[in-house]
Amino acid sequence: MDRVECVVVGAGVVGLAVARRLARAGIEVIVVEAAGDIGTSTSSRNSEVIHAGIYYPAESLMARLCVAGKQALYTYCEDHGVPYRRCGKLIVATAENETGKLAAIKAHAEANGVDDLRVLSGAEACALEPALHCVGALLSPSTGIVDSHAYMLALRGDIEDASGALAFHAPLRHARAVADGFELDIGIDAPMALHCRLLINAAGLDTPAVARAIDGMPLDRIPTAYYAKGNYFSCSTRAPFSRLIYPVPEPGGLGVHLTIDLGGQAKFGPDVEWINEVNYTVDPARAERFYPAIRRYWPALPDGALAPSYAGIRPKIVPPAVARQDFLIQGADAHGVGGLINLFGIESPGLTSSLAIADEVARLADARS
Ligand SMILES: Cc1cc2nc3c(=O)[nH]c(=O)nc-3n(C[C@H](O)[C@H](O)[C@H](O)COP(=O)(O)OP(=O)(O)OC[C@H]3O[C@@H](n4cnc5c(N)ncnc54)[C@H](O)[C@@H]3O)c2cc1C
Repeated sequence: MDRVECVVVGAGVVGLAVARRLARAGIEVIVVEAAGDIGTSTSSRNSEVIHAGIYYPAESLMARLCVAGKQALYTYCEDHGVPYRRCGKLIVATAENETGKLAAIKAHAEANGVDDLRVLSGAEACALEPALHCVGALLSPSTGIVDSHAYMLALRGDIEDASGALAFHAPLRHARAVADGFELDIGIDAPMALHCRLLINAAGLDTPAVARAIDGMPLDRIPTAYYAKGNYFSCSTRAPFSRLIYPVPEPGGLGVHLTIDLGGQAKFGPDVEWINEVNYTVDPARAERFYPAIRRYWPALPDGALAPSYAGIRPKIVPPAVARQDFLIQGADAHGVGGLINLFGIESPGLTSSLAIADEVARLADARS
């Protein structure tokens, strides 16, 4: 049986960032990916926003790793020529009874270490974005957007430069915890057996399923997987905004927000649709809920401007009734299997946090940089 020091399962943005971090620490790494390329799942079905870290519960992993990951990601993009823009975001109150929430959001953000939010009057916000309707706003200057595919390509380049390798069409099917690591059965058409000392389960939506396929992993430590689909609609006219526009959050979600890509094209969403199996079709009928929500802050949105675009699925580990989940980065202390690290529930802000998640995994794996 061939031996390698570390196997990372999944070549999404998180698996790639982890593999890069470990490879650069001198660990021999192979990334095994079920699909034929990097980033074909959730990592290419998101908003590509570099989040500031505003809303996450104080002292949560999401709050800490988002703030650290944001700084690291901006630096990485700058150093590696990855396209990004620190475009900023406005959180807008569209009615007087919402303005009190802005102060609460600012205080919460400051507790998370996000201390650059500015309170704007309605007039000040509309001076920045003339098509906007609002009575007050918060400006988050450190929110931005990134070309996530260029970022993943750069991570892949770093892995290969550090002598790491990637194997495609190579699903991890089964693993056994043995005395000195793991024996892995990988691949279907060209099956291979591999022994590794360190196993990182970064399989996104399938992280719980992969954990269940590891003999020795206690089943009561594996959370149930739930899927919360997020649907996006594109806009047939060019939306007249240069910043991201978010309404004040509503119970259960961030509201229908507007994000832009690096080409200036606007999209709306994601909404929240709980589903039982993976399905990326966007139902055009969902647009009916988008129009009134968007017109609260962009009254001039033309009739018929929205078209179904794409969807992503949040890898939830809590059921719909639970409003918030945190990342669950699970090492031997939590499940008792030495050398195994599971990355459960890496939903947003997983892209922003990816480099900080990689540092966290390296710490658990005791890898020196
Ligand atoms: C709608 C939506 C919007 C989002 N917007 C943002 C945003 O704006 N900013 C932000 O910071 N974050 C955002 N996120 C979160 C971010 O996209 C994810 O946290 C991140 O992409 C997760 O990356 P990953 O590598 O963990 O998972 P994935 O990208 O899902 O990668 C997992 C990989 O594992 C592979 N795999 C699965 N099973 C196996 C197996 N048995 N063997 C081998 N390979 C396997 C899959 O094929 C896949 O390629 C958003 C998420 C969603 C759903």
